[in-house]
Amino acid sequence: MNFEQFSFDPAITAGIRAAGYTTPTPIQEKAIPLVLAGRDVLGLAQTGTGKTAAFVLPILQRLAKGVSRQTRALIVAPTRELAEQIHQTIVDLGKGAKVKSVSIYGGVSKGPQAAALRHGVEIVVACPGRLLDHLDDGGIDLSHVEVLVLDEADRMCDMGFLPDIRRILKYLPAKRQTLFFSATMPQDIRGLADSI
Ligand code: AMP
Repeated sequence: MNFEQFSFDPAITAGIRAAGYTTPTPIQEKAIPLVLAGRDVLGLAQTGTGKTAAFVLPILQRLAKGVSRQTRALIVAPTRELAEQIHQTIVDLGKGAKVKSVSIYGGVSKGPQAAALRHGVEIVVACPGRLLDHLDDGGIDLSHVEVLVLDEADRMCDMGFLPDIRRILKYLPAKRQTLFFSATMPQDIRGLADSI
């Protein structure tokens, strides 16, 4: 098994090579074809399994085809550390794809985030609270989002973000691809997954 089977754009293949990935991890092998086919995916995966690249690579493939500077992918994560890590994976794997990403989280000034949003980015990686701040300000338009990723959904619920996530969902087009990743699947997470 190698990455050739997915027929990624050469710019993305170059990113995979530069990152030193040769063999897809089990979650990548299972999830990438489904995500490329536009299917919704419910992934049970811990950190360290390669789950980030499992959703980042197909998103880059979708966006590299027509770079538009509109927000077409939204990734929601519970902590700034995870948001930064996902953003960095996008930067590393997407170097040749000309796709822009920004990370949005609290505890730092809003100005640079608002400026990046104004300039236009295809991918927003956000923690729920600060994302809602920008939505309340009218500083971000989610009406063009084609792919929503909820990463570490169980942790977001543990941290009390469920009402924020439900509010964010209202800003998104109903017709979209949804990728839902969680390390565990207790009843409330199953309920959230079912409802979206
Ligand atoms: P994640 O579970 O997404 O946090 O990824 C864990 C680590 O595995 C990260 O450091 C990735 O760079 C690395 N990684 C992801 N996919 C692969 C792969 N196919 N081959 C080697 N390393 C990988």
